[in-house]
Amino acid sequence: MSFENLNLIQPILKALADERYTTPTPIQEQAIPVILQQKDLIGCAQTGTGKTAAFAVPILQLLYPQRNTGKKTYRHIKSLILTPTRELALQIADSFSVYGQHTGLTNTVVFGGVSQRNQEDKLRFGVDVLIATPGRLLDLMNQKIIGLEHVQIFVLDEADRMLDMGFIHDIKKVLVKLPVRRQTLLFSATMPREIISLANSMLNSPTKIVVTPDEPTVDAIQQRVYFVSKQNKKELLVDVLKDKSIDSALVFTRTKHGADHVTRILNKAKIRASAIHGNKSQNARQHALDSFKKKEIRVLVATDIAARGIDIDELSHVINYEIPNIPETYIHRIGRTGRAGQNGIALSFCDAEEKAYLKDIQKLISFTIPVVNDHGYDLLESEKSVVTPFEKVQVKRSSKPSKPAESGKPVQKPKKKWFGRGR
Ligand code: AMP
Repeated sequence: MSFENLNLIQPILKALADERYTTPTPIQEQAIPVILQQKDLIGCAQTGTGKTAAFAVPILQLLYPQRNTGKKTYRHIKSLILTPTRELALQIADSFSVYGQHTGLTNTVVFGGVSQRNQEDKLRFGVDVLIATPGRLLDLMNQKIIGLEHVQIFVLDEADRMLDMGFIHDIKKVLVKLPVRRQTLLFSATMPREIISLANSMLNSPTKIVVTPDEPTVDAIQQRVYFVSKQNKKELLVDVLKDKSIDSALVFTRTKHGADHVTRILNKAKIRASAIHGNKSQNARQHALDSFKKKEIRVLVATDIAARGIDIDELSHVINYEIPNIPETYIHRIGRTGRAGQNGIALSFCDAEEKAYLKDIQKLISFTIPVVNDHGYDLLESEKSVVTPFEKVQVKRSSKPSKPAESGKPVQKPKKKWFGRGR
């Protein structure tokens, strides 16, 4: 399959060729024809799968006949892309500019946390495609600087993250201002019940597309598990991070509250760390991310949703402070390290209650994760005595003298599996 097979117009094919895109990604292959037929769509896909082009390319093509050839005429907003964060908004605007460079269609981006003056200037002569975060969009709508009455195609991007960040009321306020007759596209990496009910309320007989992201293998990543009593996880984390060879670590917690708590403990232990999650302002998240990239802080503590879509290269360690209850989440988490052929390290702290989650993960990755012993924060005697099916496997494997679990070598060769991650 090539882009030529998707019936795309020359100005777009040329832009894709300039970008050296030869083959559409699975989401592009499936979504582009549906969107070109002007149907509503639900795409279950995360950042990194090529989903931006999957909607930007057909939107540009659908709007192409309406492009403005006379420069001075006002352009109504014909497509609105709503996305949760400034980083994503900028990335999407960039994509529209690149794929639309030969179409004569324009785009601009509005987000909060900066002065609105520049954004207002860019909107003065109108724009074909507007990419926005919800708060600033509503501000500008209230000031009558933006009107949505000419929107033909509406995209709700990263819907699950939007809800996690508390944008549901803002989304509803935007929805009532959109024309009833429109095409709607909803993208979300996960499909919890709230998203399905939101989709039912805003989409019209949508086509559903689910893509399993194709990317990294977990076998490039060294994995270790520490069995640790729940109350000792903080001490263990501080201890582990005393190792200066841990250059940069992304620590995952299940909840936003947990992320703040862990960050406080690390800062108290003089380990430079920041939390990144949906309750933080965009500025605070961007600041934490920038400091981490510049190596001013060593540790970023994140929830799964907040960590998705952020682009961190050269991450040496991922630490699962809590074991995820969904096994696929483990793969997404550890896939944040070991990129570009680098050897990443993933450490997991497993308490007694989490043993069942670990068992599911090992089943999914077909691999028994080597155990680090003698770290000083072991499970309590009473917790050790709970023999789960997993422990039976572990005991059997680690009893082989030639391959001690703590030697750092995989006990069992992992199957090559491909799983995706955010950028
Ligand atoms: P996205 O999931 O939209 O954030 O895209 C992930 C990355 O893949 C971006 O850097 C895109 O520029 C790139 N990309 C998207 N589609 C293609 C394609 N068909 N071929 C090569 N690269 C692509």
